[in-house]
Amino acid sequence: MKPLNIFITGGASGIGLGIAESLAAEGHHIIVADINLDAAQSAADKISDQGGSAQAIEVNVCDAKRVGELASELKDTPVDVLVNNAGIQHVSKIEDFPPEKWQQLINIMLVGPALLTQAFLPGMRERDFGRIVNVGSIHSVIASPYKSAYVAAKHGLLGFAKTIALETGDCNVTINTLCPAYVKTPLVEKQIAAQAKENNMSEEDVVNKIMLEPMPKKSFISVEELADTAKFLISPSARNITGQTMILDGGWTAR
Ligand code: NAD
Repeated sequence: MKPLNIFITGGASGIGLGIAESLAAEGHHIIVADINLDAAQSAADKISDQGGSAQAIEVNVCDAKRVGELASELKDTPVDVLVNNAGIQHVSKIEDFPPEKWQQLINIMLVGPALLTQAFLPGMRERDFGRIVNVGSIHSVIASPYKSAYVAAKHGLLGFAKTIALETGDCNVTINTLCPAYVKTPLVEKQIAAQAKENNMSEEDVVNKIMLEPMPKKSFISVEELADTAKFLISPSARNITGQTMILDGGWTAR
């Protein structure tokens, strides 16, 4: 497979960084895009130290003006693959959920992917190649209490992907969504602490009795599993897989 230019939002940490490292090891060029430029630069340096090719770029995915500048800024590195991964979590019952937090989650995880797709799709069409891989969640297909904004944003992302799949049926562009259950990243570490407080439980009980309890395999999903699924989705063999939801959930939704 020829080397591709791969733009990964939230690429400085967790799942985004794991996918970045894994795709860089395949010879692709990675654009690590993150709201935290220092962290993005460290991630790009780490990939370069490992023998890969990467650059860092500062982007707040909710900032329409900034996102609108990206395609021309990257005209010498046209984006072949967009990974919409940036995300945050906020855990609270709806009665106490700060309205600005609700809005922020929707902006980062639903509006952001739409803005980035708008930015890069014209170039993908022109070159008749593009792959968009969204990072959704098990919470794209089921709900958990106290996560109303997150669950709404992640469910919305599936509707967005299906719509864009219909709009790109006429060219070699696909859009799909990875939906993992829990992955041990900084986002989940913070959530374990927040859930313990909200439910008045120990952190160990949150992991065993809440997070892993509904999953037959009782296991966190690894970043490598997600990276390998992304690798398949950008490969020529997946050219007719579009608008789909790839659920990596240890059997959770088989119940
Ligand atoms: P993380 O906190 O480790 O990394 C998230 C990254 O996104 C950070 O580098 C952060 O700086 C960046 N970011 C946050 N807001 C941004 C913005 N406005 N613009 C640009 N970058 C921004 O989190 P993670 O666990 O790796 O999560 C990555 C994605 O995976 C998220 O969409 C999350 O919802 C999803 N996900 C995570 C899990 C899990 O268990 N960790 C499970 C399912 C889905």
